[in-house]
Amino acid sequence: MEFKTVPHDGRASEASLKGSQLITGHMGYVPEDGKSAAQMLSDGGLTYDDFLILPGFIDFVPDDVSLRSPLTRNISLNAPLVSSPMDTVTEHEMAIAMALMGGIGILHHNCDAERQAEMVRMVKKYKQGFIMDPVVLSPEDSVERVMEIKANRGFGGIPITATGKVGGKLLGIVTSRDIDYLNAESYATPVSEVMTPAERLMVGNTEMSLDDANAVMQDARKGKLPIVNDDFELVALISRSDLKKSREYPDSSKDAKGQLLVGAAIGTREHDRERLRLLVEAGVDVVVLDSSQGNSVFQIGMIRFIKDNFPQVDVIAGNVVTAAQAKNLIDAGADGLRIGMGSGSICITQEVMAVGRAQATAVYKVCEYARRFGIPCIADGGIKTVGHITKALALGSSCVMMGSLLAGTSEAPGEYFFQDGVRLKKYRGMGSLNAMEKDGSRHRYFSQEKDKIRVAQGVTGTVADKGSVLRFVPYLCAGVRHGLQDIGCRSTVSLRAAMYAGEIRFETRTVSAQMEGGVHGLHSYEKRLY
Ligand code: GDP
Ligand code: GDP
Ligand code: 5GP
Repeated sequence: MEFKTVPHDGRASEASLKGSQLITGHMGYVPEDGKSAAQMLSDGGLTYDDFLILPGFIDFVPDDVSLRSPLTRNISLNAPLVSSPMDTVTEHEMAIAMALMGGIGILHHNCDAERQAEMVRMVKKYKQGFIMDPVVLSPEDSVERVMEIKANRGFGGIPITATGKVGGKLLGIVTSRDIDYLNAESYATPVSEVMTPAERLMVGNTEMSLDDANAVMQDARKGKLPIVNDDFELVALISRSDLKKSREYPDSSKDAKGQLLVGAAIGTREHDRERLRLLVEAGVDVVVLDSSQGNSVFQIGMIRFIKDNFPQVDVIAGNVVTAAQAKNLIDAGADGLRIGMGSGSICITQEVMAVGRAQATAVYKVCEYARRFGIPCIADGGIKTVGHITKALALGSSCVMMGSLLAGTSEAPGEYFFQDGVRLKKYRGMGSLNAMEKDGSRHRYFSQEKDKIRVAQGVTGTVADKGSVLRFVPYLCAGVRHGLQDIGCRSTVSLRAAMYAGEIRFETRTVSAQMEGGVHGLHSYEKRLY
């Protein structure tokens, strides 16, 4: 009788199963169970909800699981999470928060190139505890404006500059204390009359460390410290309440100079070359070629242009859902790929264009091809739960990109509002008519400048408040660590290796199995996730 070893995770590897259904040994026998990813995805289009991963063997705790994973050929992240380049998801605030949490944000390009480059700069010059783009007013603004800002944004410490912007000469500061006791008749009063003027201000300089700033604020017993340059122009603002909660972010995504990593999306038109130049000057680490169907002569041309002119910048090309699409982009020099067509929550591409692919199948097929060339892939769109992230990683992707899951966080652009008693934020597809009224996304979803009739590929909607990325992303990471523990893998890297070795076993599930897997049979319930 031949004895075969059972791998440490408790399942027989595909190799060991060859030729025999039953493996016998002193431990008894382990019948083959589930399918390898290759077997499960050999035909038909599956999506994340259509399957489950069978549990493995646990001999470690979730904290032991490493989530470190490549984003591109040259960049790796401690958390394999990417925020989508959409104008209701990623501007500088989101990009900063994602990078602090070990992921990365990709800045949208539905704005002019200068604005996008400015956002890159804000991420690159981010210093923890320094508010680099504080809300600023000019001396003529009314006290009522301060009241509005306090009501909508939650803070009342507003520097006053000559231009009403960061970079203008600092003239004074208004804080909550200056306006709290004013009555309605004073609302029209210009802030210049209630502010503490520059000559009585305690300010900090650009060389100051956070510790120095803390000491100054403690001495002066002030809650805000404006930071100015040699010309007394406002550069940043420090808030004591931030110092109190300040902490280290050991997993943050940083470049060799210690600055946060940031990505930016661009199109493939002639004018995007100028946009790219501005982004590179601002210090962008990676660009994403933003197209719903990336396998085009335009994208291949753009990849070559970037490789010829800015070889230091990594390029993520896409989107793709087949190996044939991926091949052209890899051949052109892509450093990473973005996978997904029609799987996004706000997306109607499959309905309108009749083209696309179910996301689980797309992820497996493209990753399985791209890995032969060492090209990491991002699973983009359709991530509804933390379990979907684990599934995307188990099918071969190195990172996942999220839109709807992050659009309700406080770092996403836009203000919260209430509807039917629920606190919401707006979330819209970049191919929605609404978004296409602005420039960048029109190019993503239209092949020709001359297109006369617009065909929407996305919708406009709302998502519920999710709190801060600084709490939500740690929840996602913890969830994935628990998932990997159940599967029996200590890292995303070993997860992919075990999947390709056929050791990770999958099983499709029926619609009723999906219902069984969700909450069911209750009269009512409360779903709190963390
Ligand atoms: P305030 O005294 O009313 O200004 O509010 P706190 O200092 O208690 O809290 C302000 C919080 O809002 C801090 O966590 C700031 O980092 C944050 N914040 C974000 N953007 C801004 C901004 O533009 N100005 C100010 N003052 N705070 C901001
Ligand atoms: P709070 O958030 O309302 O408690 O404001 P602060 O503690 O920052 O400021 C309290 C008062 O000190 C206000 O009247 C400010 O206008 C005034 N003030 C005077 N000098 C400074 C200064 O250098 N920085 C700040 N932030 N406030 C100053
Ligand atoms: P979500 O995480 O919300 O499910 O999907 C986000 C992804 O949907 C984005 O990263 C992007 O790839 C895709 N997307 C964004 N806007 C649109 C759109 O208007 N139409 C289509 N087809 N896809 C979109």
